[in-house]
Amino acid sequence: MITGRCLCGAARYESSGPGLFSIVCHCRDCQRASGSGGVPVLGVPRGSFTSIGPIKQVRTQGGSGHPAVRNVCIECGSLLFGTPESAPDLVTIYAGTLNDCSVFAPDAALFVSQRPPWAALALPLVEHQRMPPADQ
Ligand SMILES: [Zn+2]
Ligand SMILES: [Zn+2]
Repeated sequence: MITGRCLCGAARYESSGPGLFSIVCHCRDCQRASGSGGVPVLGVPRGSFTSIGPIKQVRTQGGSGHPAVRNVCIECGSLLFGTPESAPDLVTIYAGTLNDCSVFAPDAALFVSQRPPWAALALPLVEHQRMPPADQ
């Protein structure tokens, strides 16, 4: 079981998995939403995922042309997971909120064209200038 929670513990989630992909997104929206150089994302099937607690949805226009929906704890402001309208079968867990962070093992970086020099990770990641061409 994949589980996680926000900083204050009021909001929690779980997924029976499986983890579908592990990437780091460096798009400007992820930078602004997180206040960091990118967001580590673990994709899981939406049908496997449940959450409880005081969660608010923040909607912005995503690069796909569909709204990007970020789910945030109302109490503490932690970014927990995304429910992108462009990919209704997916939940994108923000890996820093996982209870067991070792579940996340990134193999690719997205939007490296927007990544600041100080945010490159010392990992052998496949780098995509924007989104990968395939169907994730
Ligand atoms: Zn919280
Ligand atoms: Zn992003």
